[in-house]
Amino acid sequence: MTTKNNNVFSITPIGGLGQIGSNMTLVSGQEESVIIDCGILFPNEDSFGVNYIIPSLEILKEHEPKHLIITHGHEDHIGAVSHILSEFPSIKVWSSPFSSELIKRKLSRDKLNKKIEIFKEKENIEFSEFSVTPIHTNHSIPETHGLLFKFKSKKVCFLLISDFKFDNQTPYEPPMDLEFIKKEVEPFEKRLLLVDSTNIKSRNTKTFSEADIIPTVESIIKNNKKRIFFTLFPSNIFRQKTILNASKKFKRNVIPYGKSVENYLQTAIDTKLIEESTSHIKSAKSIDCDSDKNIIIISGCQGDFKGALRRVAVGEDAYFKIKKDDLFIFSSSPIPGNEKKVSQIINKIYEAGGEVITNSDLLIHSSGHAGKEDLKIIYEAFSPTDIIPIHGESYLLNHHKKFIEEAYPKAKSHLMYNFDNLVIKNNLEVKVYKNDPIENIFIHGKGIPLDKDAFRQRRKIASMGVVFISLKIDTLNRKKITQKIDFLGVPQIIDQYKEKLENLVNNHFNKNKIRSFEKTEENLKIEVRKMCNQFLGYKPQVLIHFI
Ligand SMILES: [Zn+2]
Repeated sequence: MTTKNNNVFSITPIGGLGQIGSNMTLVSGQEESVIIDCGILFPNEDSFGVNYIIPSLEILKEHEPKHLIITHGHEDHIGAVSHILSEFPSIKVWSSPFSSELIKRKLSRDKLNKKIEIFKEKENIEFSEFSVTPIHTNHSIPETHGLLFKFKSKKVCFLLISDFKFDNQTPYEPPMDLEFIKKEVEPFEKRLLLVDSTNIKSRNTKTFSEADIIPTVESIIKNNKKRIFFTLFPSNIFRQKTILNASKKFKRNVIPYGKSVENYLQTAIDTKLIEESTSHIKSAKSIDCDSDKNIIIISGCQGDFKGALRRVAVGEDAYFKIKKDDLFIFSSSPIPGNEKKVSQIINKIYEAGGEVITNSDLLIHSSGHAGKEDLKIIYEAFSPTDIIPIHGESYLLNHHKKFIEEAYPKAKSHLMYNFDNLVIKNNLEVKVYKNDPIENIFIHGKGIPLDKDAFRQRRKIASMGVVFISLKIDTLNRKKITQKIDFLGVPQIIDQYKEKLENLVNNHFNKNKIRSFEKTEENLKIEVRKMCNQFLGYKPQVLIHFI
């Protein structure tokens, strides 16, 4: 199913609006539908062990999309690719070479195989009603693209540029070609811009260049003849490159450490994004880890529980033990919500004798997202008739809308959230239809969805603990029932009351006839929970098992 007959096309964000993560957008024309990106959302601490979260894919099934186009290789843009492919095995996937390598590695971990179509910057991908032109932009991972959709009627186009910054100084990639954008969009009467809201509240209205970080890294390495740990977003290949180059310049060894850092670095080497000699890159297994010559690039800058940095900070790592004077550089910033985890690690590093430098001490991190001044540049280049803030939590989308009204009143701004439907009608009127959000899917273990009931049970078990009661059926009519009571996650003091609980079970069966096991189970649960509440002040979960 595609968009209604009196519309040119419609845009439906499936994820990424009203949240940071799981970016996914459905573009639906008269004849065909295309998905842009398929990201995951990282779970917070209350998610009880799930690996990640993806949006509901139900709505996609109605539209039978034949193509998936990837803007860049961040997890919040490619992380759900295996789920999309399982649902739509014949879908054609388009991406840049580096992103395609990241996708392939992900698919091979999930035992899937798929040919990825490689697009080139500024070369049209042709569809029947429209063409899509990938336009290179700077960001915090190589080969990031905005996607320009040009409808063949020549009347309407839109540019989706979800993650971007302007960086005219970086030595690693060219800046975005604004002249190209101006020329491309000129013939179109209606021009819609869907654009990044991440840094709309940032005090830096102009985002720093990746080049601004190079002198800081060099001076840290030059002036500190001690062991230095750099932690960063592992996908930031350019930052890794800056550290590699500076280490070589000052004759230091580099040890990439942690699965994520090692994977991204290897992918960058394999795809020739890093072509310089790598003879100073060593493995922790092959060197004296205590040496002050070592520069370690380490995973876990967000305080991740399983990250290498946390392992080192709490003294649980097999290779690196913190020693006095070790220097830890956080070449990153905490993603909103991770501040506490990061500060816990910083405290642990100090307690173990190390020292920490963060972005608030020195210019050691530049964001991958545009500040307000950068946004104005893209507004001017694209000259939109309509702007839709995307990529951000609800308060950021709202602030972005307000900013558009002040900074670029020529364009109409439209506020959208996930599953709303933006429609371009044949008369080029833009309309946003509100829709109710559809609940996310929690993924755990081997990519398995955790249904809502199971998630709810986990929450209850985690917060209250469980009382397990096993009852032997053929003893239920006796005065003394054969029973076993066990506890999990309940304070040990409950053992004192075990006998009282056993008596309660006995009395229940002595007083009540069993009409149905279901009803009996329900009533007994209520009584046990009530009694536990008297002892503990809260009601644990109760599980009754008839054997
Ligand atoms: Zn990104």
